[in-house]
Amino acid sequence: MAYRTTNPYTGEVVKEFETATTEQIEAAIAGAHEAFLSWRETPLTERAALLQRAADELRANSHEYASILTLEMGKLIGEAEAEVELSAKILEYYAKFGASHLAPRYLPAEGFGDTDVALVNDPLGVLYAVEPWNFPFYQVVRISAPQLMAGNTIVLKHASNVPQSALAMAEMYKRAGAPEGLLNNVFASHDASETILADPRVRGVALTGSEGAGAAISSTAAKNLKKSTLELGGADAFVVLDDADVAKAAKWAAFGRHWNAGQVCVSSKRLIVDDSVYDEFLEAYRGHVAAFKAGDPFDASTTLAPLSSQQAADDLAAQVEKARADGATVEEIGAPVPEQGAFFRPTLISDIAAGSETAHTEFFGPVTQIYRAHGVEDAIIIANDTPYGLGGSVFSKDIARAQAVARRIDTGMVFINQPTGVKADVPFGGVKNSGFGHELIDLGILEFVNQKVVVVSDIDGSF
Ligand code: NAP
Repeated sequence: MAYRTTNPYTGEVVKEFETATTEQIEAAIAGAHEAFLSWRETPLTERAALLQRAADELRANSHEYASILTLEMGKLIGEAEAEVELSAKILEYYAKFGASHLAPRYLPAEGFGDTDVALVNDPLGVLYAVEPWNFPFYQVVRISAPQLMAGNTIVLKHASNVPQSALAMAEMYKRAGAPEGLLNNVFASHDASETILADPRVRGVALTGSEGAGAAISSTAAKNLKKSTLELGGADAFVVLDDADVAKAAKWAAFGRHWNAGQVCVSSKRLIVDDSVYDEFLEAYRGHVAAFKAGDPFDASTTLAPLSSQQAADDLAAQVEKARADGATVEEIGAPVPEQGAFFRPTLISDIAAGSETAHTEFFGPVTQIYRAHGVEDAIIIANDTPYGLGGSVFSKDIARAQAVARRIDTGMVFINQPTGVKADVPFGGVKNSGFGHELIDLGILEFVNQKVVVVSDIDGSF
């Protein structure tokens, strides 16, 4: 797969990059390994200072960085600026709290003193990060901020349609004063992942992307006895109970399904609405969706972005046609979208049969599935009828009731009275086909450290 920037709004191929040679891959691993040998000895205070400078760098040049995102994958400029700020917040989070997450833990083991049995957190080495295009900075920072803080170094393989974002991430750390090799970008082919994961200097891999990519990378990792974490697709349930604030729920649903043009793993992809409020909800939802304005993502008044590529729009159209052929009802909402650009007209799919292929499909764009639920038990059954287990939402004025429903939804995250959120200080991760492992807070930083046991003993050697 060639690495190239194609502006999804104009269709123009802006810049192309050569795929990395075998020698370049070797140099990237060797450089990251060399950097690891000294970075692991670098005091935590210095590692934290680097992350803080990276956060400052992003904030100081927010528009410059955001423009790269909008150019390469069509994200609305306001959303791109928000992504830059979120990335800065994650860097800052680990600058502030990373050291305490890495502090030794003392175990109350029988026969030993209070501080004799310690779990210390040592870095592993070079990590391979394979990242997607939908949040080109946030995804890279979500793995690199904690792992650089932990003392690891990174070889980055970004998605082939966001090469300039990949270079910008390497440049950000360089401008912040990172030593050579701390984060090495490679424009690697898929096949190169085999070489990278077979290399003994590479100690693990974190992938965010589709199920197919996750299965390919994690099996290569397993073959080489390397740890992997996978952040994969999702089809979040957005459950509206009979006692919900319907107006608020409809507004949040429209936002939750359409931000980032619907290309979010935790988009509110499946609206599950109680029969008693279904019609009221749907009317309000249609109204909000119809009000979106598709256009130039650099124009601040645009509220619906193009998809990341024409291919993505074509693939989504084929999925919708398949749903129609399978018997679902398909309705387009709002005005036709512009001819120019990889736009997709917001679409609503209803009358979806339980357990059907449509019900189990992730639509990665502004396509909403809606289900009518007959009571709370039915809503939970529909919510869990999916191969995915990433996020989800429950809307109810009765918080205790919503919390009880949340506990029965089989996902890694559930938000009450808002769509699944993306924050610097709340962990991220899924179950089922949405992957395994966590990113962010202490859970994320501890994924790729050696939690080493160090025991001090004064027991004499006699039996
Ligand atoms: P994708 O095609 O799987 O790509 C993700 C990354 O994996 C890219 O860097 C891609 O490289 C690489 N890749 C794909 N197949 C590979 C293989 N066989 N060997 C090595 N690398 C491979 O996913 P996408 O379409 O860009 O992203 C959308 C998916 O990601 C959706 O399912 C979405 O829900 C999921 N996602 C999940 C999260 C989360 O945190 N759970 C967050 C964002 C997105 P190339 O570009 O070179 O193919």
